[in-house]
Amino acid sequence: MGKPTGFLEFKREVPQRRAVGERLEDWRDVYQPFAEENVKTQGSRCMDCGVPFCQTGCPVSNVIPHWNDLVYKDRWEEAVRVLHSTNNFPEFTGNVCPAPCEASCVLGINEPPVTIKVVERTIIEHAFSNGWIKPEPPKKRSGKTVAVIGSGPSGLAAAQQLNRAGHRVTVYEKNDRVGGLLRYGIPDFKFEKHLLDRRIAQLQAEGIVFTTNTNVGVTISVEELRRSYDAIVLCGGAESPRNLNVPGRELKGIHFAMEFLPQQNRRNAGDKTDPVKDIIATGKRVVIIGGGDTGADCLGTSLRQKAASVHQFEIMPKPPLERATSTPWPQWPLQLRTESSHEEGGIRDWALTTTRFEGDANGNVTKLHAVRVGPPPNFTPVTGSEFSLDADLVLLAMGFNGPSKNGLLDELGVALDARGNVSTDREYMSSIPGIFSAGDMRRGQSLVVWAISEGRKAAKSVDKFLMGVSSLP
Ligand SMILES: Cc1cc2nc3c(=O)[nH]c(=O)nc-3n(C[C@H](O)[C@H](O)[C@H](O)COP(=O)(O)OP(=O)(O)OC[C@H]3O[C@@H](n4cnc5c(N)ncnc54)[C@H](O)[C@@H]3O)c2cc1C
Ligand code: SF4
Repeated sequence: MGKPTGFLEFKREVPQRRAVGERLEDWRDVYQPFAEENVKTQGSRCMDCGVPFCQTGCPVSNVIPHWNDLVYKDRWEEAVRVLHSTNNFPEFTGNVCPAPCEASCVLGINEPPVTIKVVERTIIEHAFSNGWIKPEPPKKRSGKTVAVIGSGPSGLAAAQQLNRAGHRVTVYEKNDRVGGLLRYGIPDFKFEKHLLDRRIAQLQAEGIVFTTNTNVGVTISVEELRRSYDAIVLCGGAESPRNLNVPGRELKGIHFAMEFLPQQNRRNAGDKTDPVKDIIATGKRVVIIGGGDTGADCLGTSLRQKAASVHQFEIMPKPPLERATSTPWPQWPLQLRTESSHEEGGIRDWALTTTRFEGDANGNVTKLHAVRVGPPPNFTPVTGSEFSLDADLVLLAMGFNGPSKNGLLDELGVALDARGNVSTDREYMSSIPGIFSAGDMRRGQSLVVWAISEGRKAAKSVDKFLMGVSSLP
């Protein structure tokens, strides 16, 4: 514990966001830089608890008190080693994680918690800028080969771990670029893509082969992979979006969020998009259905595209401003979350559901009809509360039903669980021996930090399957 009185002396500080007017004119990270001296002070607020609840709240079990202490003492090189011992990609989580660790920090019982996420991000940026992040190829090869299907955070974590264990790893990705939702889901203003590119360069230099534009089960058969590899890890994500089956759903101008968001990430990457297929909010009255993170990403994107207006609707009641009593510490709190996009504009509304869409003679959506509803589980419509709203673009951001079944999973015939995700045993092995699964494809729509955690655990199981024992963490 660096400074026993740190938590008494210093208040929690976090990086400030750039001015709304400025950030709506670009696609760069919304946060301003945060001086390392401040980060050291924040690290000193850690009490080095005997039972560090932060660590149990963290899906990768980051050794948080240890690196808080090292940062306070200016021992950055050791800090990054400890950080990497549990997390392959701290720059992913340091930017996009909702930080369940902070929600379970002991200091959070009666004070604002330690700024764990900022400390994490600063350690890894310090390490990159000092040239400490170098390729770490294995000293010897095992002679075994592994195919990882999907290059999101779970696939990347599994690939790096398996490669470091000495196996020859090839990652198959159906998109033209590697990264999964970090590349084509999460907007640049939350996660700039050069952070991904520099890590991919490290993985390539370690010997991992990336095969893009290859849709396993469609452009290449999974049988072929089974013949060529000693093990396969399915990391294809949860790509099947939840639909809104109400009259008028077929009208033009109603799209899933994941039809809209990737296009903007592509434009930012300098790609030319097809003007016929372009979905653009510019000058439109936008309604986003779904009050979660994906909806917030649609909001920030629509505002940067200069929408005429944006509404974000949610069927659940408005959460309380402070932690709800139903979710006491150290649980993940039910409370109102105001993301950076919410500060930027738009109108949020809760406890309502869309009943139908209306369109013009050309089949374009023009109006949305909705009704206010009571609380879950029944969401009983409130009589007389019906209303309508003009809309030119409707974005459906209501979550995902699990992995896409066409192609890969159908061809494999792998067993699915009750929610339609790939079913595995405790060792992450599917119903087919030698075929493993991790991330959203196995656990359903989740978080980047869980994807990394699952990729690491699946890699250990694959290593054990191939070699009989594994020394992977
Ligand atoms: C818009 C949006 C915003 C989000 N924001 C956050 C956030 O801020 N913080 C957070 O923690 N989480 C966030 N999430 C959730 C997070 O991105 C996911 O939980 C995480 O990316 C899952 O990682 P994964 O590796 O399991 O799958 P994915 O990231 O979905 O990657 C799966 C990859 O597999 C590829 N693939 C699928 N099938 C095949 C096939 N047959 N052949 C070849 N390739 C295939 C896909 O193209 C994709 O690249 C967000 C999700 C969305 C949709
Ligand atoms: S729970 Fe909070 S104060 Fe305690 S060790 Fe973790 S970060 Fe430090």
